[in-house]
Amino acid sequence: MTSKPLSVSFTIVILTLSTTFSLQSDQQKVLLVSFDGFRWDYLYKVPTPHFHDLLTHGVHVKQVTNIFITKTYPNHYTLVTGLFAENHGIVANDMFDPVLNKSFSLDHMNIYDSEFWEEAIPIWITNQKAGHATGSAMWPGADVKIHKSFPTHYMPYNESVSFEERVAKIIEWFTSEEPINLGLLYWEDPDDMGHQLGPDNPLMGPVISDIDRKLGYLIQRLKEAKLWDVVNLIVTSDHGMTQCSKERVIELDQYLDRDHYTLIDQSPVAAILPKEGKLDEVYEALADAHPNLTVYKKEEIPERWHYKYNKRIQPVVAVADEGWYILQNKSDEFLLGNHGYDNALAEMHPIFLAHGPAFRKNFTKEAMNSTDLYPLLCHLLNITALPHNGSLSNVQDLLSSAVPKAIAYTQSTTLLGGDHLGELGQEESYPYFLGVSLGCIIVIVFFVIFIKHLIHSQLPALQDMQAEITQPLLQA
Ligand SMILES: [Zn+2]
Repeated sequence: MTSKPLSVSFTIVILTLSTTFSLQSDQQKVLLVSFDGFRWDYLYKVPTPHFHDLLTHGVHVKQVTNIFITKTYPNHYTLVTGLFAENHGIVANDMFDPVLNKSFSLDHMNIYDSEFWEEAIPIWITNQKAGHATGSAMWPGADVKIHKSFPTHYMPYNESVSFEERVAKIIEWFTSEEPINLGLLYWEDPDDMGHQLGPDNPLMGPVISDIDRKLGYLIQRLKEAKLWDVVNLIVTSDHGMTQCSKERVIELDQYLDRDHYTLIDQSPVAAILPKEGKLDEVYEALADAHPNLTVYKKEEIPERWHYKYNKRIQPVVAVADEGWYILQNKSDEFLLGNHGYDNALAEMHPIFLAHGPAFRKNFTKEAMNSTDLYPLLCHLLNITALPHNGSLSNVQDLLSSAVPKAIAYTQSTTLLGGDHLGELGQEESYPYFLGVSLGCIIVIVFFVIFIKHLIHSQLPALQDMQAEITQPLLQA
């Protein structure tokens, strides 16, 4: 063997190894923050200097299409799984599972039954299986045991714990001896005040200013801990908020006999479980009942909502028009602001900003889907994404050129059967596996060739040496 093929093999080995290791070095630290109910345009209601700082020095997506229904638990689970509600199984804040014969209710904090969460695997489990650590400061659902696992560090949900205490925990986990690479931070406002006041109320101004101050506090603490330049901070939310009015109430008692159904979830998407044999009667009684109410049998629910193929979606679903409120009786609790409506409505859309070494500077993007965040997070953390409904290629332009671009495959967002995820996802995993395998094969082949070459080139010298050793013996 001549030295030319040898040097070619050597170059290929170096190139393969460097590609493999450059993919591995693509790992970043990520802090995902959710300010519950922060509508995309709250940014412009009052001066929000800290949000605008992020916007100028990072990336901003104007319209994020979240998932239907635009409620808290379904959307927070989407952010960490990349799945539509029908696929991750958290289809509402209030649910009934007819197979488990169990209820789930945010109102009563009856949410800790693992079985409700186990149709999906949240990102912290995948992150930890890859050998990393995660920390959650009150992220919805992250204090539930899911597939026998919790985040490496987590705070059990307690709404009385201050924002500052939550931030302190996040900083502690990022700077510990075995630091986390993924932090999740949740804060209840401006959702709480948005419900009470309504988003159009001028008193929402101070509420938004307060959230801006909280963001400023977080940035300050990250800077003091020397994390600001190394952590990729993503600030988003689960949904927006729309103004309601007592003039826009749809009262179910006017159209339905309470003995004929159970109301599982109320407004603005009423989940109705008719009593046995009453399905058609309930459906027909509601179908033309009110001009601002659209009623679907489960199988008629529009495909674009990806809200059909799950046993927890009830046989009849009634959806109110934006700003309309569904109550059984007008004496029931009414809120001036609400969300949960059609996810095509801009007022339901959340904010999305990001800043850090992986992101471009001063870059604005028109639109993305909230399901796209999950593959983006997996890419940043250099972990293999599980099957999901998002697409890394939709959001890859948010990343700075300094970050080696992983190979992105456009995902099909075809409607999936609830329990049959098909073969979505696996972005990066296949090319990565292929790269590593090829690298190993080339290394083995190279060494075999190298050793053979070495033996051949050393053979004449060995023969000479043997001749030198044997000659004196012969002479003797
Ligand atoms: Zn919420």
